[in-house]
Amino acid sequence: MAALEEKTSQQDTMTFIRSIQDTYQKADSFYNAVQDTSVRTRTRPINQSLGIFNSLTIFGGGFISLGVLGFLIFLWTGRGTDGGLTATPLWRWIVLGQYIVPTITLSSVLLRLANASQAAVCTSLGASILLEKNGVPLSQVAEVSVLRGINDGPLRLVWLLVTSPRRAAASQTALMMLLLVGSIAIQFSSTMLVSDLQLSRLVQNPTEQLMGIDQNDQNFDALSQFNVFASKPNIMLFGEVPSNMTAAPNSLGLSDTGIVKRIFLPMTPDSQLNLRRFDGVAFVMNSRFACMRPVLKDPVVKVTTTGSFVRFFGNGTNQDISYSLRMGGEIDHASTMKNAGIDFPDDCPGGTCLPARYNCSLPFTINTSNRFSSSMCMPGLLQAVRRLSEDWTMAKGPVASFSLVYLMTRINRTTGEWGDTGSTWRLDDDDLEPSNEWISYRTADRGNMDFTICYEQLTIDRATVSMSTNTDIVPPALAFNATSKDVQTLPLRQQLGAANDSQPRNGLFQVDSYSNVSRTLTTSFIAVQLTLNSFAFTKNLTIVTSGGKGTTTLPLHNDYTSVFTDIMGTVDCPALALQAMMTMLTSSMLADMLPKLDQQQTAATVYSVSESTPVRFTGLIAVTVVVIFNLMCVALITTLFLLRTRYSYPGNVWQAVAHLSMSDETQSLLEESGEATDGAVSKRLKNNDPCVKVDRSLTAGGFCVAVVIYHTPGGMLIVEDTPETPCIRANRGRLRQLLSTGVDIRWDKKAARIEESDDKVTVFFEDGTLASGDLLVGADGTFSAGRFQQSSLSAPTSWEKPTKRLLEAYPSLVLAGETTLSGAEMEEQLRLGHSAYIAFGPDYTLFSGINRVHDDGKSADFYWVMAQNDATVGQPDHWVMTATKGDKFERAKRNAQALKPEFRVTIEKGGVQGMKSAKMWYDASITKVPPVNRVVLIGDAAHPMTPARGEGAIFAIKDAVQLGKVIASSDRTDLISLRTALDEYQKDILEKGYESILLGRDTLPKARTGAERPKAWGHEMRPLAELKPLPIKIAE
Ligand SMILES: Cc1cc2nc3c(=O)[nH]c(=O)nc-3n(C[C@H](O)[C@H](O)[C@H](O)COP(=O)(O)OP(=O)(O)OC[C@H]3O[C@@H](n4cnc5c(N)ncnc54)[C@H](O)[C@@H]3O)c2cc1C
Repeated sequence: MAALEEKTSQQDTMTFIRSIQDTYQKADSFYNAVQDTSVRTRTRPINQSLGIFNSLTIFGGGFISLGVLGFLIFLWTGRGTDGGLTATPLWRWIVLGQYIVPTITLSSVLLRLANASQAAVCTSLGASILLEKNGVPLSQVAEVSVLRGINDGPLRLVWLLVTSPRRAAASQTALMMLLLVGSIAIQFSSTMLVSDLQLSRLVQNPTEQLMGIDQNDQNFDALSQFNVFASKPNIMLFGEVPSNMTAAPNSLGLSDTGIVKRIFLPMTPDSQLNLRRFDGVAFVMNSRFACMRPVLKDPVVKVTTTGSFVRFFGNGTNQDISYSLRMGGEIDHASTMKNAGIDFPDDCPGGTCLPARYNCSLPFTINTSNRFSSSMCMPGLLQAVRRLSEDWTMAKGPVASFSLVYLMTRINRTTGEWGDTGSTWRLDDDDLEPSNEWISYRTADRGNMDFTICYEQLTIDRATVSMSTNTDIVPPALAFNATSKDVQTLPLRQQLGAANDSQPRNGLFQVDSYSNVSRTLTTSFIAVQLTLNSFAFTKNLTIVTSGGKGTTTLPLHNDYTSVFTDIMGTVDCPALALQAMMTMLTSSMLADMLPKLDQQQTAATVYSVSESTPVRFTGLIAVTVVVIFNLMCVALITTLFLLRTRYSYPGNVWQAVAHLSMSDETQSLLEESGEATDGAVSKRLKNNDPCVKVDRSLTAGGFCVAVVIYHTPGGMLIVEDTPETPCIRANRGRLRQLLSTGVDIRWDKKAARIEESDDKVTVFFEDGTLASGDLLVGADGTFSAGRFQQSSLSAPTSWEKPTKRLLEAYPSLVLAGETTLSGAEMEEQLRLGHSAYIAFGPDYTLFSGINRVHDDGKSADFYWVMAQNDATVGQPDHWVMTATKGDKFERAKRNAQALKPEFRVTIEKGGVQGMKSAKMWYDASITKVPPVNRVVLIGDAAHPMTPARGEGAIFAIKDAVQLGKVIASSDRTDLISLRTALDEYQKDILEKGYESILLGRDTLPKARTGAERPKAWGHEMRPLAELKPLPIKIAE
């Protein structure tokens, strides 16, 4: 009673219901609380809530962003560690084709496009969340609402949020600001990415080139060169076939380089720059230098004056000097080789084919630095002629019959120490000391004089080779240091393998394959040139190989001297020094001859090139962070939108406008703002700018779900939830649960008898308990016990009859059933009437309506009631009294055949199992009532009516509201006046109820014929031309 009284403070039925709605705000809206017939938000599939375009933008944009990011990572890392040699063709095409900058620009454009589209959609989503969850000031609602439909990005929304007089949720503002920051940052993606580019060496694709490898007409005169030693060496790159030999002297003093194969490309030094790979025919220099302790017979050194041929070396200039050292004697090749433990060449028994007598100049120094000056004495060159005439090959041993012989000397004395002109120094074997490949004559007064003898084998071949390098080879230049006046020879010595072990080889190609070795007249000619023409074919040739002075017939370019001296000074290995010198000579000769070779062959070459390549990762990381950051913002906003909104369909302008134009808060504003500026509207709302949200409204905003449609033979009729015809479709169980909140209800009590007295009324229940009170409200429905019991008190005629006899059977057989539908079938039923419809058959009506939406939001319980004209219903022998479920189903199914298939679905899907036990409806013609004592009847107990007009519950609620008012406004201490008020109330509701009962008896027949527009849910129906499309989509 207390609860009821409280409720009666409300003005009318709808207000009463809304008061319940207020009470249950926490349980979402009243609609959510009672309407299991509404399709809830979570049932909205993504493509429906977001829309196809927005879904595509968000998910497609995400894919594009991640795809572009992946592509950028591929560009940044695709180079690999080998200069892009093994990079994918796409990577090479982009970078080597110089498309990297356009590609980055295009990628950035794609990223920006994807982000801009996503940001725009997310702005709509953010505006939707704001409007539905947070609310915005009324002055901004138009703009925010329109932002849901059309927008250019988050800037405007962030501006609205920041400048809003009412703070929106901080998290919402922060999220939109993050989206804005991310959207701005992504605009700089191209700049960030391009900043990572740097020029770097990349390996180009192979190209084929024609290269001269032979002389067609064997016009060797054109190739002849003289004294190449005098010219600055022309250093070429070469590859070296790996060999295990070292030139370290053995215990017998033999220092043997073994056969070293150095492969020179048929390319000038300039065209070798940046070469990474070569496949073709090349020149092979085979060389072997073996140095050992010489056995000399009668070695003498003589101080002489000489003529104008005396030259001064060491600072690059020549000038006559008047002082010279000469040495002479004979080499004992047999003993020399024997001491070194090597065999004579087969074609040179006893070493007799090799030149023995020597007579050469010696170098000397003019300062007192004690620096060794070295020179080479070549006692004879004739055996080198064999290189022209014979098809010779490298010997198995260190010495061959065609070996050139170098007698190398070192002395560490200055001119003053050698004595006067004409003095002769006979070297004495007693002063002899062996040291590695050297012998050293040591005297107290004349100092040291060292000798070693070196045998050279050298051939030139051609071979098909494949050579490569992973990095660009820097040509080992010989740089002159102006300060130290030295030539920096280390890089070249490293290339030539004549540096310390700690210094790695460089300037070399790796030889990957080596085959088809051949020799031509040209290669033989080159080999001979290396000897005869270079050395001027002079017997007892003296070559000064260090920075000393002396006479020579072969002036050396300072570069050769520097390299030779440095090798001797660092590794003290004459074999390597000689080999280095001959390699430089071969390189210089080839470099000069190559352009003159007119017989060409194709070779495949691969060069490196400097191209802009992603080298740094700073920009890529920054862009990756921005893209991931943006995608997270998009994902977060989309998730919030899906979880938190129900009514917004971003991108739909009409809906955005409709929410504005139909909203309670905005409607009046819109009417007044026809010619007003936004500023004027804001000004007007300055002091009263309420927070506005989009929510389902009884009058506007949401889509209407309380609709009943009559599909009559004459056309469709409709009553729907509009401001003029407000109606609510409530699930009976949930409504009862709501109404019973806070009310002390004793369940499972069945009233059996009622006793009234002047001071109280008592109800006796079937379980033997009883309850007494001041007033009894009989709200026990059509089969009311209260109505029956009243007869015992005042005995009015109408109340004496037992309940059922008082009731009048509605002349229709009632069949009812239930079923569960989902997907397209559910959608179809809702389209026919959301939430109920009545279809007219030949002699029946079929009511069908949704009862409860399942938690998955995709299926729901439906129920149907078929009322078929039948005057005999209620008679004890009527077939339905003994009919099984199957019998009833068959009847309903058979009847329904007259309807279109869509109207038959609920019956046929429910089947026999879905059949319910309904048989008939009752109403009653209750016109008179006894005076109220302590029992008052309301609802169906007072005026039982059929559901034909759907008004029974409305009447029951109205009765309750009215009763509450009567009690609240009465003086409860004055029993007589209270009884009078209740009595008047009772008569009033019976009268109104009876009126509805009478109308209800004709409603359906009249609707069928179209004679009269029926009422339903308390409102007159209006014609409906066509079914509205549903604002929801359930079918997958
Ligand atoms: C198919 C169908 C469709 C309908 N559709 C609509 C519609 O769309 N709109 C509308 O407004 N109305 C509709 N109605 C009518 C509406 O359901 C009733 O008018 C309404 O329920 C009456 O409410 P009430 O409280 O008076 O009685 P009831 O709702 O019948 O409640 C009576 C309660 O009293 C209990 N009771 C009965 N006897 C005893 C006893 N001896 N002791 C203890 N408790 C007892 C019952 O168990 C029941 O809980 C429909 C009715 C039907 C059958």
